[in-house]
This record gives sequence, C-alpha cells and structure tokens, in this order.
Amino acid sequence: MISKMELENFKSYAGAIEVGPLHKRFSSVVGPNGSGKSNVIDALLFVFGKRAKQLRLSKVSQLIHKSSGFPDLEYARVSVYFQLIDDKEDSADEFEIVHGSEFVVTRFAYADNTSKYLLDGKISNFNAIGQLLRNYGIDLDNNRFLILQGEVEQIAMM
Ligand code: ATP
Ligand code: MG
Repeated sequence: MISKMELENFKSYAGAIEVGPLHKRFSSVVGPNGSGKSNVIDALLFVFGKRAKQLRLSKVSQLIHKSSGFPDLEYARVSVYFQLIDDKEDSADEFEIVHGSEFVVTRFAYADNTSKYLLDGKISNFNAIGQLLRNYGIDLDNNRFLILQGEVEQIAMM
C-alpha cells in the first residue's frame, strides 16, 4: 500500500505538503473544481513515469509550481511511501507493516526539463524503479490501476 505522499512545489502546491496517512484500501481527495485534486493524481503519475502529455502538460518543467509569490522555483519533487502490510484478521482496517518492507520512491523535475529518480534517497533510474514496482504487482504496462478523469465517459461514449 501507499502510506503517504509528499509533494514539493508540485503544480498548484507551493512548498512541501503531505498527503496522508492513506487508508490501506480506500482514500478520497475532496475539494472544489480547480483546487488540485487531479494534481495529486498527477503526482502519482509522475512517480510512475508517465510522459508529460499524460500529465496534461508539454514539458516536465511545467510541473514546477509557478505563481506571483513563487515565480522562479527550481524544482518540483514528489515522494511516494510504499509498504507491505499484513491485514489483521479480526479488523477491517487494521494491519501490521511487514518489517523492513518500506521504501520511498522520489522523482524530481527541474526547470531545464530534466528529471531524476531516487530510491530511499539514493540516485536511481526509471528502469530500476519500474522493475521494482512491477515486482510488487503494480501493472505499469497496462495501467488499469489508474482510471483517469474522463476515461469512464470516453469508454461509455464508444
Ligand atoms: P476539477 O474538479 O475541475 O477536476 P481539480 O481539483 O482536479 O479540479 P486540478 O486540475 O488538480 O483541479 O488543478 C488545477 C489547478 O492547478 C489550476 O488552477 C491550475 O492553474 C493549477 N496549476 C497547474 N499547474 C500549475 C503550476 N505549475 N503552478 C501553479 N498552479 C498550477
Ligand atoms: Mg480534476
């Protein structure tokens, strides 16, 4: 499961914010139109290695927060905290974290349109992270774990 996310200077979010703690099975992000709900999902997509177009922009540098108060931020960062859990038999919500199973995947986007990955704070790359996530059963190839805004409608219209 994903226990929490950290977003720093990511799209509409200036500075560092934490999203979480997340429930092991069901969490929802609630807010008015334009308040940054899809940007939280975009943060996940960014860490899962999606291209700029799928993140609703043409260059990764556009992921960096920009506003009158923060015109020249140099990077955006997203960290996603993963952990393996064992469900507790007599409870719907409780679980135990599998000892030593936690890891953190971080991706930075820079103003020069480059990006870099870190695994537990050490430099890594998209292939290594992709392999790690696939090993845990995250289907990065078919992407059916992510149904994006408008996709249900698109399929219904076919
Ligand atoms: P809806 O309910 O309409 O789907 P939402 O909550 O999903 O809305 P988002 O698409 O996540 O909204 O957020 C859109 C907002 O993010 C817009 O106001 C846009 O200006 C802002 N935004 C996107 N990129 C940046 C950026 N780099 N810097 C500052 N703000 C940004
Ligand atoms: Mg949205």
